[in-house]
Amino acid sequence: MRLIFEGHREVYALEQTLLALLPEERPVYEEEDPSWAKISLSYSGDRAVAVTEMSYRGETGRGECARVLTGTDYEKEGQRRRLLQMSFFKAAQQAARIAPPWGSLTGVRPDKVAVAAMDRGETPEEAQRTLEEDYFVTPRRARLAAETATVTRRVREDLRPGGIALYVGIPFCPTRCAYCSFVSSSVEKSFHLVEPYLTVLKTEIASAGKLCRELGLHVRAFYMGGGTPTTLTAEQMDELLTALTDSFDFAACGEYTVEAGRPDTVTPSKLRVLKRHGITRISVNPQTMEDRVLEAIGRRHTASQVLSAMEQAAAAGFDHINMDLIAGLPEDDPEGFRRSLDTCLQLGADNITVHTLSLKKGSRITLEGLRIPSAEAVGEMLDYADPTLRAFGYGPYYLYRQKYMSGSFENVGWCKPDGENLYNIYIMSELCSILSCGAGGSTKMVGDGPGRIRRVFNLKYPVEYTSRPGKIEENQAAFAAFYQRTDDEPSSPASGPNEKRD
Ligand code: SF4
Repeated sequence: MRLIFEGHREVYALEQTLLALLPEERPVYEEEDPSWAKISLSYSGDRAVAVTEMSYRGETGRGECARVLTGTDYEKEGQRRRLLQMSFFKAAQQAARIAPPWGSLTGVRPDKVAVAAMDRGETPEEAQRTLEEDYFVTPRRARLAAETATVTRRVREDLRPGGIALYVGIPFCPTRCAYCSFVSSSVEKSFHLVEPYLTVLKTEIASAGKLCRELGLHVRAFYMGGGTPTTLTAEQMDELLTALTDSFDFAACGEYTVEAGRPDTVTPSKLRVLKRHGITRISVNPQTMEDRVLEAIGRRHTASQVLSAMEQAAAAGFDHINMDLIAGLPEDDPEGFRRSLDTCLQLGADNITVHTLSLKKGSRITLEGLRIPSAEAVGEMLDYADPTLRAFGYGPYYLYRQKYMSGSFENVGWCKPDGENLYNIYIMSELCSILSCGAGGSTKMVGDGPGRIRRVFNLKYPVEYTSRPGKIEENQAAFAAFYQRTDDEPSSPASGPNEKRD
């Protein structure tokens, strides 16, 4: 769709709105395109007026929104942007006849609006109504957002100054999944990189731990992800976890999570190492329990290997086990998804995360054009998941959205009472800093007040990570500077969460 701006340059916000509302469209500027939208901003006295005129596949639409802008310049900028997005939404509603599940909300964390409403004094029910009436969110999604916002506010209350989350990334997997755009390397091709990677990682961990002690920071939640951390051998994992406990103050740490995402990497000896080091949570992520779907996405393991990994995890005595599922995978259908969820429920995982397929550039699904279920079929899968999980005693505790999601739906973490994974809430709601060690991670520094968030990125690939240790020093210096500054210097706003990959 050709985008034309008049009286403003809110390019990024409107591109994101376009992609969220009409995911099959891409913004273009110079080229001719039969579909177009002209988004204008003008002023009438002290009122800002946003108008969008749209032509979409032969249909037309017009959206107009106006309001008096109030507050600080920063707040006015946000109100202006929102006005433009709302006018675009209204025009798209008419021209494309859409009723998106999240209404006019296009951001990664739609429950932020509910958190803000409750912080202003609204009850969860009132916040739900605000989402439905002001943002056109469907009742099911508005309820989800109000529920996860309630959990976020409770977890926020429990955070004490100096608390951070620590993330360690292991960017190796047995094979590459069809939906993955992450930098993870298949261990078959990159076996020789693992040891040099771990050597540099342990050095980074030692200096990061020293830095945190000097800054008076303590770890509240630890998360090892990737990639697939359990591609490491039991000995490698033992040494890595020893390096971590030698380096960091874990006295106040409430949870220790290690992803064991690919069941074909789980062994009793690895699980024993994790238990011995006090790991309290693991993730065994089938994504689906349908063998034909597993084959289509290149996981190279079967559903029966998931059952075996879950048996081993139960025998090892882990208190919390998460299972990830994805709605909308190639070759899947609502019946297959239903069977997958029912099996996960029978297996007794206390956390079940239901993702919606996100079509990422660079993934095999996109590159090879694999056949995927329609948005309606994905909607049917999610329509089954929500009431079923509730009936089995699970509640939603965090949610987020990604670009290019099937049907513009969402990812939701569900858990049994008191089973919340704090790290997921911290990262999605930006409640505290996340210090990341390892390739591909991003360190997010969260200070007090709005806009006081900074990010630095680790080098992406294992080879560049191991060959350029100067980047680690640079990132740690930025982390130190963030905590050492005493003035109120403004910082750039966050650009999004660490991507969830599994
Ligand atoms: S989706 Fe996860 S398990 Fe699959 S290749 Fe990517 S990082 Fe590895």
